[in-house]
Amino acid sequence: MDRLEEMKARIALAAKRAGREVRPTLVAVSKTREADDIRPLLEAGQRDFGENRVQEAEAKWPALREEYPDVRLHMVGQLQSNKAEDAVRLFDAIHSVDRPSLVKAIAAAKTKLGRQPELYVQVNIGAEAQKGGVSTADLGDLLALAQDQGLEIAGLMCIPPADLESSPFFALLAELARRHEVAGLSMGMTHDVEQAVMQGATIVRIGTALFGPRG
Ligand SMILES: *Cc1c(COP(=O)(O)O)cnc(C)c1O
Repeated sequence: MDRLEEMKARIALAAKRAGREVRPTLVAVSKTREADDIRPLLEAGQRDFGENRVQEAEAKWPALREEYPDVRLHMVGQLQSNKAEDAVRLFDAIHSVDRPSLVKAIAAAKTKLGRQPELYVQVNIGAEAQKGGVSTADLGDLLALAQDQGLEIAGLMCIPPADLESSPFFALLAELARRHEVAGLSMGMTHDVEQAVMQGATIVRIGTALFGPRG
């Protein structure tokens, strides 16, 4: 799988340039891709995959997981509270925790199912009106609520504005993580993965570079 090896090399080089010893986890974002497109990555050893819709993931992954039981599934899309229980059941990580109602729904699902995926709070880092994510101003309150509800938060996630240089937004997310004492940074997509790695990403989410352009 040349594309996978190329991406790993890009990540490794960026980490080296930044003097980082730990390589970020590579999540292959397989939204809209068929099982036949996903299988070559599985055969090449890739195990972390991202989806942005609960229903699509429920349709695609149970069969693949029977063949590859050690797959780790990441929810990277906006999550409705009424889908929280399904998401907690299916996913190993949720990258889009962004509001009090969702925190409460995930906490209730955790109690019911006895299982907690790794959780990332999505920050609306560019203060964009249409975009998901908690505002930087409300981040502290949301993290406090998660703690009250017994949820452990692994880190922060962001998607910078599409039309601007990503690096300053990644740096800001890293600063917010330091300030709020969470370790994980879910940031970096195909077009800005090097910038994210150099700014301290612990987990990057890559679709296009691994699967080709989405149709
Ligand atoms: C689709 C998607 C990605 C992957 O984007 P590419 O540009 O295809 O690498 C990453 N993160 C999220 C939240 C996405 O929805």
